Amino acid sequence: MLPRYRRSFYPRLALIAIVLVCILIFTKTINKSTDPPSESEGLSLSNAVVDVSLRKKWSPLERMVLADLAKQRPGLGDDGKSVILEGEEKVRGEAKLQTIALNEELSEHLSYNRTTPDARNPLCRTITFDRASLPTASVVIIFYNEPYSVLVRTVHSVLNTADRQVLKEIILVDDGSSNVELHEKLDYYLATRLPQDAVKTVRLKNRLGLIRARLAGARIARGEVLVFLDAHCECVVDWLEPLLARIQESRTSVLVPIIDVIDAKDFQYSANGYQHFQVGGFSWNGHFDWIDVPKRERERQRQDCKVPTEICPTYSPTMAGGLFAISRDYFWEIGSYDEQMDGWGGENLEMSFRIWQCGGTIETIPCSRVGHIFRDFHPYSFPDDRDTHGINTVRMALVWMDDYIELFYMNRPDLKNNVDVGDVTHRRILRNKLKCKNFDWYLKNIYPEKFIPTKDMIGYGRFVSLASDLCFDDLQQNNEEPYNLGLYTCQKSDVTKSQFFSLTRDGVLRNELSCATVQRSSSTPFLVVMAPCQANNKHNEKWEYFRGQLRHIDTGLCIEQKGLRSHDFVVVDVCEDDTLSQKWRIEH
Ligand code: UDP
Ligand code: MN
Repeated sequence: MLPRYRRSFYPRLALIAIVLVCILIFTKTINKSTDPPSESEGLSLSNAVVDVSLRKKWSPLERMVLADLAKQRPGLGDDGKSVILEGEEKVRGEAKLQTIALNEELSEHLSYNRTTPDARNPLCRTITFDRASLPTASVVIIFYNEPYSVLVRTVHSVLNTADRQVLKEIILVDDGSSNVELHEKLDYYLATRLPQDAVKTVRLKNRLGLIRARLAGARIARGEVLVFLDAHCECVVDWLEPLLARIQESRTSVLVPIIDVIDAKDFQYSANGYQHFQVGGFSWNGHFDWIDVPKRERERQRQDCKVPTEICPTYSPTMAGGLFAISRDYFWEIGSYDEQMDGWGGENLEMSFRIWQCGGTIETIPCSRVGHIFRDFHPYSFPDDRDTHGINTVRMALVWMDDYIELFYMNRPDLKNNVDVGDVTHRRILRNKLKCKNFDWYLKNIYPEKFIPTKDMIGYGRFVSLASDLCFDDLQQNNEEPYNLGLYTCQKSDVTKSQFFSLTRDGVLRNELSCATVQRSSSTPFLVVMAPCQANNKHNEKWEYFRGQLRHIDTGLCIEQKGLRSHDFVVVDVCEDDTLSQKWRIEH
């Protein structure tokens, strides 16, 4: 007797056969969509070793990666063009912009390999590189809870624009991100979609802040040059080679590309023309700012450069800090970073002053361009909600700024006392060991355009009315825009920024950013308007200080306080001898 199951054997066999055929057809289709990225997708590395065998077709990670890729629209935003979303996508994008200052929705629809415009000066295209002889680079990209697609695009962009002959490796440093997308999915993506030898990942157990995250990357880097990038960058063709070539020529030059703007909302890549770019400056409040290339620097270039000045390495008094290249040996020799700096901020000015004062240079390399997404606010909070930028800047100033630290404290009286900034002894020892020059030397030689509110002045400090207890005051108005000069009860303690004005030897009444002008109207009195100063102090309006009166040269009118109270705007009126309300004492 046949066993019972024999009775249904043949129909079952047929069923199994059908299922097998189905699986076969299905795997074929799946394989198609998981083929390694083709040339047209942008990854054109000659020695790419993409480990497709690691792809686990049915794993949730693979499905997530495929879903991400399916969201992307080929060609969208190519050449750095702006993209406007519609409908629900637009709404979602705007919501993201509100919460993380970046349109993550849009980023997810752009290919990881979208192209950037060649924004370089055409002269750059005539320069050739002997890549075999250039030093190699480790590109260190640190990230803390960056949008996944933006980070992945940054990695692709580096691979698409840097030649593997000179690109030794990309090192990703995860500064303790809590966003789970940046864990297994990222690892899986890198392992299955990118050349195996190209990207290394370092994961910090806890968030250590960007300074120590960069240090962690630098410690494992094996390239001869360290190139640091933020996790939201897209590079322009041949951006890396000019940096490496300059370091080969000048080992102690620390280099920055021209940093172009990628709009956080529509992802437009803006280069602002290739002729005009800016270099780094700083404000006495301890913040980095952008300044035009000084005339003095253009003259130096005309004398020193072998190439046309437009594409010549351009000295920069400071650097923004996120994107730069430095010889790896020199990075350690010159004191890497102040490891006790936490969170975000201040490290860029610290490194800038240190490099210049200790014998190096900071240069913008015009033929190297990289786009960076500038966000309107930090999408993350700071460790223990502390003002790490402020604290780090105090550490910097205590080591590098000598007596000029007082100008910083004047802007930030809150940081002068009662703030624990830790011990800076070992950084001072470093300064001695490297026999670095002082801050006065730096200002005179590297940044002579910088306005020093206490240097070469007829007077500086508070401008006190002899007729009342009122002082000139900016009334906390934005100094980057024109504003009316005000009056306010004189501060009793140290003079702080809002009441600190200077009268320069060439007769300009000003503070750091704004210069006093007179706004003419139909009849006197006229308002005194503080307007952004001309770069050349000589071109600002002039004032004369005589027997306590402040007389505006062009109109012949004097600053008058009569009838005015605290919070009012100050005026100029017809000068009258021996009128107390027109007399001012300058004290500090
Ligand atoms: N970052 C980090 N740890 C932090 C804060 C920031 O690793 O605690 C990373 C961040 O992801 C980015 C880089 O440091 O890649 C610079 O930060 P961000 O872009 O926010 O600074 P910004 O460009 O606004 O100066
Ligand atoms: Mn950034």
